[in-house]
Amino acid sequence: MKESILQFWKKKQEFCILCKRELQHKYKPHREWKMSGLLCSDCHIIKTKEYIAKQQIEKEKQERELNTCSICSRQIKSETVQVKPKWQWNLERGSIICKNCFEKKDKEFEKERNYCSICGTNLKFIRYNPKPKWNISGQLCRKCWDQRNEIQ
Ligand SMILES: [Zn+2]
Ligand SMILES: [Zn+2]
Ligand SMILES: [Zn+2]
Repeated sequence: MKESILQFWKKKQEFCILCKRELQHKYKPHREWKMSGLLCSDCHIIKTKEYIAKQQIEKEKQERELNTCSICSRQIKSETVQVKPKWQWNLERGSIICKNCFEKKDKEFEKERNYCSICGTNLKFIRYNPKPKWNISGQLCRKCWDQRNEIQ
């Protein structure tokens, strides 16, 4: 008898932090729920469902954002191949673009890279970077660089 009383006092009574019922079975809340304490099975189930639903919404939102082309803002359908832009294009990190824009941008970039931005001469190996204040993208041939440099 004495022992069972001792046992009773030893056992700490715990209550569900949501419905305040005394706990028979204790469930720990998920760490992302940011709750301290324990839950009964009913409340745990409800919270789990809420959490999954919330995650699903988050996921769909992220997917929608991920599937938008960073250049033309068109939605990229899942069956279409998404393409990562080349790092040289200076697009935001994690950007995804559609195939159309990739091909267009790639051609433009190649053109910019291989031909003088002013006269269109094939640059081959000798090429000059325009000064930032000139606001010219791509590179220049010697002749155009000198000419441009004389103006300013
Ligand atoms: Zn509860
Ligand atoms: Zn696009
Ligand atoms: Zn030139």
